[in-house]
Amino acid sequence: MEFIKNISEKARDIGEKAKEITKRSGELLEVTKMRYEISKLEKIMVNNIEAIGELYYRKFKGEEELSAEIERLCQATRGVEQDIQKLREQIEKLMPKPAVCSQCGTELPEGANYCPNCGTRVVE
Ligand SMILES: [Zn+2]
Repeated sequence: MEFIKNISEKARDIGEKAKEITKRSGELLEVTKMRYEISKLEKIMVNNIEAIGELYYRKFKGEEELSAEIERLCQATRGVEQDIQKLREQIEKLMPKPAVCSQCGTELPEGANYCPNCGTRVVE
């Protein structure tokens, strides 16, 4: 079945791609680059979920032998999802949170001595 073969190959590519990204994540990737990877992975996820939907529907119509394929594709998709999560966590770590006012929670501009919103003195 050509359709299933294509999906299998696609899923394998995804698996390898995800591995590669995870490996590279060990090094310090720039945040913009990571964001780009995330957007690529998100597109892969959308495609995967669409494929899963199609396979699932075909199974519903009676193609029982699709179960294993659906399972595998779901696993691959889960892997992609986890990689997206890892990348997001890394971005989080690399981006220091801006200081906020202890009184009202307003984000403070760099080097501010007083909160621009409520005037509370900024303490280190
Ligand atoms: Zn304030």
